[in-house]
Amino acid sequence: LIELKHVDKHFGSLHVLRDINLSIAPGEVVVVIGPSGSGKSTLCRAINRLETIDSGEILIDGEPLPQEGRELAAMRAELGMVFQQFNLFSHMTVLENVMLAPTDVLGLSREEARTRAMDLLERVGVAEQAEKVPAQISGGQQQRVAIARALAMHPRAMLFDEPTSALDPEMINEVLEVMISLARQGMTMVVVTHEMNFARRVADRVVFMADGAIVEEGAPDAFFDHPQTQRARDFLDSIK
Ligand code: ATP
Ligand code: MG
Repeated sequence: LIELKHVDKHFGSLHVLRDINLSIAPGEVVVVIGPSGSGKSTLCRAINRLETIDSGEILIDGEPLPQEGRELAAMRAELGMVFQQFNLFSHMTVLENVMLAPTDVLGLSREEARTRAMDLLERVGVAEQAEKVPAQISGGQQQRVAIARALAMHPRAMLFDEPTSALDPEMINEVLEVMISLARQGMTMVVVTHEMNFARRVADRVVFMADGAIVEEGAPDAFFDHPQTQRARDFLDSIK
């Protein structure tokens, strides 16, 4: 479904992605871990073209990402993205946040968009908050709204960049539970996270990045119990 081939990117003299090769199959859940600054966010952002790449290819179903315009907007919508910061529109209600892109980008009627939005808000457990604005709900609730907003576009895959790291501890689980249930329903997911229990429970594959490169990848139990590289062992020790 998502394929990266020999992807390279620099920020000035900083080589932030080094020859990244990664294939994500439909229904697969890939967890990306690695030290701060290793390029995890840049990788996520490159997949849906929030960042350009210098060389290599990123293919979605064998097709290169469109460069611009309507096709790019449509492709971005097919790859739902959830960030550390929830990025909800603060002047809109929860419901309006979830209805916006389906009406604007997909051309759904307001009624259709409302029905779809309420179903999703129900599914992530925040339907009662529909008429509030983001500032009136908790961080965990806001992040679940952000997930519902991405799902409202019926994406083929979801990209999560540290979706729980800005949350108070007691709110982390409610967001992880939503992600776990998405994974169980067969959603293709790329998840950057420091939640190692989540990785063990849900990941089909763990990808360990350091200095812009994929240093090691494998099934979660194999990776966590028997890391093959010193870099990975050092990293796992540092987060224990
Ligand atoms: P973290 O765990 O802290 O989120 P990360 O693995 O997500 O780290 P990235 O955000 O991808 O790392 O950043 C990789 C490197 O690229 C870092 O050294 C960062 O400072 C640098 N970088 C990121 N964005 C830019 C930018 N827009 N311009 C210049 N340098 C950048
Ligand atoms: Mg990051």
